Amino acid sequence: MFDLVIRDAILLDGLGAPPKRGGVAVKDGRIVEIGRILGASKVTIDADGLALMPGIVDNHTHYDAQITWDPWASPSPGLGVTTAVIGNCGFTIAPCRPADRELVMKNLTQVEGMSLDVLRAGIRWEFESVPQYLDMLERMGSALNLAAFAGHSSIRTYVMGDAATERAATPTEISQMRSLLLEAMQAGAVGFSTSTSPAHNGGGGKPMPSRLADDAELRTLVGCLREAGRGVFMLTKGGHTRIPFLEELARDSTRPVIVAALLHNSTNPDSVFNDLDAIGDAAARGRRLVGAVSCCPLSMDFTLQSPYVFEGLESWRPALPLKGDAFKSKLKERQFRDALREEIARPAHFRLFNGEWDKVQVIESKNKAAEQRSVAELAQGRDPLDTMLDLALAEDLDTVFCALLLNSDEAAVGRMLKHPASLVSLSDAGAHLTFFNDAGFGLHLLGHWVRKRGELTLADAAWRLTGQPAALFGIRSRGALKVGYHADLFLFDPARVNRGPRRRVFDLPGGHPRLTTDPVGVHGVWVNGTRVVGEKGPLQVDALPGQLLRQFAVN
Ligand SMILES: [Zn+2]
Repeated sequence: MFDLVIRDAILLDGLGAPPKRGGVAVKDGRIVEIGRILGASKVTIDADGLALMPGIVDNHTHYDAQITWDPWASPSPGLGVTTAVIGNCGFTIAPCRPADRELVMKNLTQVEGMSLDVLRAGIRWEFESVPQYLDMLERMGSALNLAAFAGHSSIRTYVMGDAATERAATPTEISQMRSLLLEAMQAGAVGFSTSTSPAHNGGGGKPMPSRLADDAELRTLVGCLREAGRGVFMLTKGGHTRIPFLEELARDSTRPVIVAALLHNSTNPDSVFNDLDAIGDAAARGRRLVGAVSCCPLSMDFTLQSPYVFEGLESWRPALPLKGDAFKSKLKERQFRDALREEIARPAHFRLFNGEWDKVQVIESKNKAAEQRSVAELAQGRDPLDTMLDLALAEDLDTVFCALLLNSDEAAVGRMLKHPASLVSLSDAGAHLTFFNDAGFGLHLLGHWVRKRGELTLADAAWRLTGQPAALFGIRSRGALKVGYHADLFLFDPARVNRGPRRRVFDLPGGHPRLTTDPVGVHGVWVNGTRVVGEKGPLQVDALPGQLLRQFAVN
């Protein structure tokens, strides 16, 4: 007797094979038969031509904090995700000494747009080391499977304290970081993550700790993966980090390297393709480099109280540590504004905001006539930066803007998604909760890029969301419809699948707001054979079925 049979589905195997009509039988959390299923089953679902694929592997999330108070990792399972990789960009919450908790939370508040009140109310601090953190996650359980990176910035803070955001490490400190990373790998971390991106600033506007690492530190730490014999290195790179250096790290460590965040910039349209081609060339030389791209346009809601959009600019630095009236005075300064204007006008290799004022809209203002209009329109011949700042200052910085920043050129994004060196990634689920929400990236890939634009086949998209990341991360027996594999399953209607519009809900600890998005055309999600999402959304389950993944393939 099977536990579950899903009959008469269009099967997408997650490995890119052409779709086949058939069924899948599940017993004890595993796929036990595929094709024409004859045996009896406790539960049978007639899919009637819906598509069935492995559950989505979201390889770029920041659920490290949220997962400690929300084992559902909301909203990801409802959006087809059955495995989430946490701890990207080096921003983890372990290891952490009790005395550094406030510092780590302030960093997350700044760099990932998480509310400090939410973090203070929400995080369960029942750990100090990475192994203890992983044990806690295992004890708590989760609705989906989790794989966790060991994060550079946390390791650096643990070893160097406040100096982590100020200087290069000494050889002794590097060797202490090395021990911590090896300990994390031994305990079951999926790899090592870091960031060299100037967009990544922590508490008080200081750079995130990993940005202070020199090449020697990076070489030593990535080298740990070679010693561990497994693991992935991921980094979100600043413009100054060159692909040839990353290729050296891949060669010396013999491990896969994921290069993020490759987003298309309409004002410098070739830059991202130069990176992808360089990554592809390195791959042709036998290095395992992939470029992390996004299938979603990057747009952000923001107010000038927390203007993530501008915080990576060199000329914004004088404003970064300021609060209240001092901050407002800075925004008024002519010299400050001139420097901003000058920098935004300069071409850049990678920058979130590139002076496209026609793509910055007013969403909420006391001046209702300004809503839904772009800053370029409102400027009417005045300078747009002055227009935006003056409007915000006149409304005590409460004005809500939405900026369409990157990835807005669909022809270019289509080429990036099909590039042989690319990995579909960058949902950033769990972070930037008030700015944007791309946790539904998989539904967007299937609805927009497959059905609406026809840029990818259903089989190719399914591979990019499942089999490709599972193989890259060494996630065993998942990411494919295969006999013996874990029954992580996603049933959807290919004629309707999509992500709904984002909407604001107030359900974070303390009643704080976040943006979320509803699924369209999702009929069911199973994690290790347990149904966690039904026809009408997430289900009550007796026991959380997700597993903390700690054993990875030596690939
Ligand atoms: Zn990230």
